[in-house]
Amino acid sequence: MVCYYTKLYMEIRHVFFEKKSKIFKFFFGKSLILGCAGLFLMFSFGFQAWWGFWAHRRINRLAVFRLPPGMQYFYKKHIDYLTENAVNPDRRRYAVVGEAERHFIDLDVYGDSASVLPKFWPAAVKKIGEDSLRKHGIVPWHIQTACFQLTEAFKDKDPKRILSISADLGHYIADANVPLHTTRNYNGQLTKQDGIHAFWESRLPELYAVDYDLWIGQATYVDNVSEAVWTAVNRAHAASDSVFLLERQLSESFAHDKKFSYEPRNNVLVRTYSEDFSRAYHERLKGQVQRQMRSSVEMVGNLWFTCWINAGQPDLSEMNNFSFNETDKKAEAAEQRSWWRRLLHIRSESEY
Ligand SMILES: [Zn+2]
Repeated sequence: MVCYYTKLYMEIRHVFFEKKSKIFKFFFGKSLILGCAGLFLMFSFGFQAWWGFWAHRRINRLAVFRLPPGMQYFYKKHIDYLTENAVNPDRRRYAVVGEAERHFIDLDVYGDSASVLPKFWPAAVKKIGEDSLRKHGIVPWHIQTACFQLTEAFKDKDPKRILSISADLGHYIADANVPLHTTRNYNGQLTKQDGIHAFWESRLPELYAVDYDLWIGQATYVDNVSEAVWTAVNRAHAASDSVFLLERQLSESFAHDKKFSYEPRNNVLVRTYSEDFSRAYHERLKGQVQRQMRSSVEMVGNLWFTCWINAGQPDLSEMNNFSFNETDKKAEAAEQRSWWRRLLHIRSESEY
């Protein structure tokens, strides 16, 4: 979730860096780039982040309670880490090369051949080419990669890697279950429904998720990870039709000034979808947002559990005494600062 700005960023990057427009560069130069970066920060870490990030954190947190006794002590002990770091992939998405495309896949770009896309990365690269794949998003393949990495971390009994990869994996799984992360019309920009992305994944959960039933039973083993991931992505994509259709139909029966309202966010009045419009849309979706959030919680727990089984069920009690020490915390904070620095192209003092 929260990845509309990922694509927006990629489009702007395309204009400024790949097209290398001399006119843009001459007149606006770095100041505009910094300005854009500032805007992204505002959107990413301001009101937008607040709501979309909430869902990611909630999904990771609830998934912990689905784990079997052999995993639960370790995961519960670090539940705050898994919750807080559920949003790391979004925090670094503009700063780390190769991160942005891990959050989505534009299935409709592939047309009828989407159903026969190679399920595994090497075959997909061979058939379509890596550049093209990355351009249109790689979330179903990257989830499989993260599962492999988590299994290896379990085999190595490496608590830091287990936790960090678990947190990231939860994020990508949640993204893969959002219909608007599976279409090139990710924000309704092709159908004059701009803003629908944050509406669906941020505004609606903000208003209604408190009533969602997201408690699911114990995690189950997934025999075929690839198939499970692709089934989830295809199901999310199949839901995208109704996301657009129902919004369009409802908009026709709503006066424009009733569709939107202004609400305070971080002491700033922002235009958002009105509560009346949100409620009517949410009802028409017939539980779709809840279903997709449940699928996310279900799949996160199942895949954490599956990786642990595939690693031979290592005894996690050997890591009971593990906790992040001050050096770890400082390193983590430094890494997060480096994402900001790279985003803003700010040099550290040591580089002067
Ligand atoms: Zn994301």
